[in-house]
Amino acid sequence: MPLIVQKYGGTSLQDFDRIQQVAERIRDTHHQGHPLIVVISAQGGVTDQLIRDAEACSASPSAREVDALLATGEQACCCLVTLALQALGVAAISLSGEQAGIWTDKLHRHATIQDIQPDRIHRHLKEGKVVLVSGCQGISPEGDITTFGRGGSDLTAIALAACFHADRCEIFTDVDGVYAADPRRTPLKECLQQISFDTMLAVSQNGGKVMHSRSVALAKEKNVSFHVRSSFAAADNEGTLISSPPISDWETIHLSVKSNLRHLRFSLAPSSLPEVYGEIHQLNACGTCVDWFSERALANGHEEICVTFETGKEEHLLRLKKVIAQSGGELCMEGYLSRISLIGALVKENRALLLMEWSRELNASQISIVKITANDIHLALFVHASDTTKATAILSQKLGLEKSDPS
Ligand code: ADP
Ligand code: ASP
Ligand code: MG
Repeated sequence: MPLIVQKYGGTSLQDFDRIQQVAERIRDTHHQGHPLIVVISAQGGVTDQLIRDAEACSASPSAREVDALLATGEQACCCLVTLALQALGVAAISLSGEQAGIWTDKLHRHATIQDIQPDRIHRHLKEGKVVLVSGCQGISPEGDITTFGRGGSDLTAIALAACFHADRCEIFTDVDGVYAADPRRTPLKECLQQISFDTMLAVSQNGGKVMHSRSVALAKEKNVSFHVRSSFAAADNEGTLISSPPISDWETIHLSVKSNLRHLRFSLAPSSLPEVYGEIHQLNACGTCVDWFSERALANGHEEICVTFETGKEEHLLRLKKVIAQSGGELCMEGYLSRISLIGALVKENRALLLMEWSRELNASQISIVKITANDIHLALFVHASDTTKATAILSQKLGLEKSDPS
């Protein structure tokens, strides 16, 4: 019988009723006779709470302890789902990342899976048990618990599907599948039936949090096709299949949004660049991660740098501003921006047309485009964070993504 890997996200495990529903769905798949590995996330909101707890106990919590703490969110939820399954009469066992044989490097909070030792999972599958694995975690060569970053249970699922040569990998979440834009921001038509790894990767790298971007990269590398499906919809609702070409999705344009990016624009003499870039690199290592940056030569011989940060501690940015000032640089602009991305093969040939139409529409609504960047399948517009909702609505409508009938 084909082996299936399923993953249930925190949004599908919010409370005991939802846990019960998930357990029933797992039972039904198990009753069809499939060997089944199930990856479980922390209950919705638990990871955020654990991070707040860590910060309440220490102004600069060590990454090792935070990882050990965060992993408990997935472990607790994994045990709860296993108990619910056992109560339904299904033989099931929960495993932490370490018990599941998931070995990683030692990069706390952003660890990469190095190896999976499959023996224990194989043994339990042979015993006829459903094996439930706590997502988003593994064990480093030093024997410390590591985690994979926000949304990292997707990575556990894809890695297990690759390791066990699963016939099917299903990522269960709170929406019907992958849409051409975030269905929570824009009232959209139905989800897409199929998309390619490349498009899914671009969507997830540019703010579409439905999949963790490193998990999509791994799926592409290992050629693990997977479905994104709703844990609330009927069992015959297939969701979206993500796989390699020949599936063609070149006609679809996707819209992804990364919101509230901390932004700095400054100018400085070229001789000061190494020091400032060095400082930005340091900030990256302390968790104030760069989203994107650009550099251009100014007429006065200085360089203008624009940088946006995904997450940012104000104290880190103060440090950067100090280095800029000390090296004779000048801060020209700062604030919060959002990056609205258009993704798809059609983008390349239509870039100028899209920009012509968009700038007209956005100007008419007094929304200024702070910056534009583009490559072959990606066109990104930066707007002030306060304009995000309005700009996204205008662009979704221009692209014809919205439902014509809002019912
Ligand atoms: P889970 O808890 O299941 O991991 P996530 O919150 O990580 O769920 O991901 C699901 C969310 O991703 C949806 O609720 C939706 O708001 C968001 N999302 C963003 N972009 C898209 C998209 N293009 N298609 C579908 N969902 C999207
Ligand atoms: N629970 C973690 C988070 O919310 C990761 C995950 O389970 O996917 O980021
Ligand atoms: Mg997720």
